[in-house]
This record gives sequence, C-alpha cells and structure tokens, in this order.
Amino acid sequence: MRKILLVANWKMDLNVSQGSFLVHRLQELIRLHRDIEIVLAPSMMALQPLSVQIDRRKFRLAAQNAYQKDVGPYTGEVSFAMLRDLVHYAIIGHSERRIYFHEDLPMIRDKVAAAVRNEITPILCVGETQHERTEGLTRRVLHDQVTTALHNLTTREVRDIVIAYEPVWAISTFQGGHARPDDVAVAMRYIRSQIAQLYGEHVATDVRVLYGGSVDDTTVRSYLEIDGCDGALVGAASLNPYKFAGIVDAAYRLQHELTTNED
Ligand code: PEP
Repeated sequence: MRKILLVANWKMDLNVSQGSFLVHRLQELIRLHRDIEIVLAPSMMALQPLSVQIDRRKFRLAAQNAYQKDVGPYTGEVSFAMLRDLVHYAIIGHSERRIYFHEDLPMIRDKVAAAVRNEITPILCVGETQHERTEGLTRRVLHDQVTTALHNLTTREVRDIVIAYEPVWAISTFQGGHARPDDVAVAMRYIRSQIAQLYGEHVATDVRVLYGGSVDDTTVRSYLEIDGCDGALVGAASLNPYKFAGIVDAAYRLQHELTTNED
C-alpha cells in the first residue's frame, strides 16, 4: 500500500506568526499516521521558523517556489541550493506562477532540474485552463507540460518526482469549479501514459500523481478513490485547521479500509 501524500499550499495567505499558529493547531488536531505523508508549503519566510516547530514525525516542508540558478547575481531570489537542507519538496510550475509570473516551459524544466540537483523532490503542477479545455487542448497541454519539465532528468530521477494534476479552472482562486473524478481519472491516466512512453511502465507506475483543485474534507475521498491517485494538493481548505485535519482523517479512513480489505 502506497502512502497517501497530502500537500498544503498556503500561498501568500499566512505571515510567519499566522503560519506558526496554524501549525500549532494542526499538531493538536492531527494524529501520527504512518501511512500518510503530510507536507506543508508555507511562505518562504516561514520555512526556517517552522522547520524548528514542526513535529517531523507528522509533517514535512515544501517551498512554493525557488530560483533555478544555484548562486549568482540574481537580486531578490532564493535558490533551491539555499533550501536543500530545509525542505523535502518544492512546488514547481503552479498555474499561478505560470500565469502571473510568466513561467514558461523551459523555465519550469530548469526549476525541476535545479530541485533534483539539490536533492529536493519537485511537485510539478500541470493542468489546462478553461479556455484550453473548451478548445479540446487538454491532452496537448498536459503532454507539453509533462514532457518538457522532465526533459533533463534521468529515468531514475523521474521515478521519484511528484506530479500534481491541477486543472486551472478548478483551483479556487480561478473559477473554482469542481472537476469530476471521472475526468480527473482520464487526465491522470494520460499523464502516466506519457511517462510510460518516455521512461517505461515501471517509472510510470512509480511516479506519484496527485489531484489539486478546490479539494476539501467533503470531496477529498472522491479523488483519493481514483485508481492511481496518490494524494491531493490543497489550497484554501488547508488554511482551516478543522478542514485540513478532516482531509487527513478522510485519507486515513480510506487507507485503513483498503488495508483491511487487502487482509
Ligand atoms: C492550489 O493552490 O494548488 C489549489 C489546489 O488551491 P485550492 O485547493 O484552493 O483550489
């Protein structure tokens, strides 16, 4: 049984003390679950203080972004090299960064390579906009985003990365509609098929694929039940300690049911 991976993306919503308060509440509400991996992605400023606050048996940290060069004259940037002992993961290619910061395919490819070079696991976000969806371009978009981002990696490196399928129109800060689990399943299968073509079936099976887009404690189960869905990337609902603890709880119950059925 694979661990379920739950990632909380706090975006720019919490300052350091608010983030610290939320961690405090989450540590009270969430029990230790061996089969669930919980990753918190606070603001860059909060990473260092939270790294000494978190119960490392329960939580890991992710950066929401970093710069692809390791060192150099890049005023204002923080590199993956600077984060290497602080975070396990980094979110790369989030649609907000693609849209508002014009991160293009080559830049995202370089960020993925920089993360891997610095022993940080990329959580690569991919997904189509509403316009691309209505134009029937979803597959093309997913193909381009997945294949370009992985371009500089070895087969072994690809196996370890995480891909989050996040249809842009389903993210709460955009239109915030709900994606149907059946449609998510089709997109996830397509993503794995692209990886299988390039790196083989084993790698396609090993890569973890998450769903993200307005997931909360009432909907998470419907996505986690999708065959091949390894977890969820959660934005808005992760800011509410009760909702996020409810998401962890739903994941735990599902995991528990599946293990019991296997016995
Ligand atoms: C996200 O920010 O990646 C996200 C999925 O946000 P939300 O859960 O709010 O849609």
